[in-house]
Amino acid sequence: MSQSPHHITPLTHRTVASSTAVGAGRFAPSPSGDLHLGNLRTALLAWLFARSTGRRFLMRVEDLDRVRPGAREQQLADLRELGLDWDGDVVVQSDRRQHYQDAVARLESAGLTYECFCTRREILKAPSAPHAPHGAYPGICRNLTSEERGARRAGGRPPALRLRADVGSFAIDDLLHGSYSGMVDDLVLRRGDGTPAYNLAVVVDDAAQGVDQVVRGDDLLSSAPRQAYLAGLLGLTAPQYAHVPLALDQEGRRLAKRAGAVTLGDQKALGRTPRQVLGMLAASLRLTAPDEEADLAGLLDRFEPSRLPREPWVITLPTTPSQSP
Ligand code: GLU
Repeated sequence: MSQSPHHITPLTHRTVASSTAVGAGRFAPSPSGDLHLGNLRTALLAWLFARSTGRRFLMRVEDLDRVRPGAREQQLADLRELGLDWDGDVVVQSDRRQHYQDAVARLESAGLTYECFCTRREILKAPSAPHAPHGAYPGICRNLTSEERGARRAGGRPPALRLRADVGSFAIDDLLHGSYSGMVDDLVLRRGDGTPAYNLAVVVDDAAQGVDQVVRGDDLLSSAPRQAYLAGLLGLTAPQYAHVPLALDQEGRRLAKRAGAVTLGDQKALGRTPRQVLGMLAASLRLTAPDEEADLAGLLDRFEPSRLPREPWVITLPTTPSQSP
């Protein structure tokens, strides 16, 4: 049955005349606290990248880990207040555990996993494997005999499940960083407490949602090779990546509450409108002049990935009323 135009999600902003762009971009915040200006800027960029290429834009809540009650609702409200829109329902990772289990089961049946009983301390104390890059899991549990495994199981500590990777590094292409080669080790797929690992969930979800463009902070650039490699093992196509610069405070630290008025709520408390905050983000991306009014349709018209600043955004912020002496 063909859909009437009435049922087609209206795209309120410019769509690029490309008949081949059918994929999606996304923003995938962890609901561990409020989004700060750096996160909002990344969300804006993810939206601009997706919408300027005619892609859908999807929202996913990555709540397998640290969750602060109410954070999810606040994050989505802040994004909406900036004017960002997304297609379809918000996907919530904690509703999707079965999909992660299925992916793990496929890797398990292909012989690509092993149980790992190591504590963090044991891993830190272990000598690194010869030629293994710094920070790689040193393979302590990779080749346990069945007796050794039995003895460790008897210890009662539930094992994590690791990937048996057969490469040490993998290369991806990034729209901003070019070709980037990074470490792949025997990464954790499922933690000892049963929680699916971020690297697994992100790969499963991006593919399931039809995401073919991942725009996120460049603190995750080094995770991309692992994720792309894992996608390949699962028979999935890795997305296109764009890892964007982070926001830093004046001391060069990652933005955090201590830097001052870092959230949309803080900015509003100082008398700025969401539109002015959008203007601040746009100016930081050199899409508008400082203090120029910004609107999303206009930003979309000006957006040109190759002209984006490549260096971190260093912000000076007034303190919030609650931080003032
Ligand atoms: N949930 C992650 C974060 O908030 C982002 C993951 C991703 O974009 O792949 O840092």
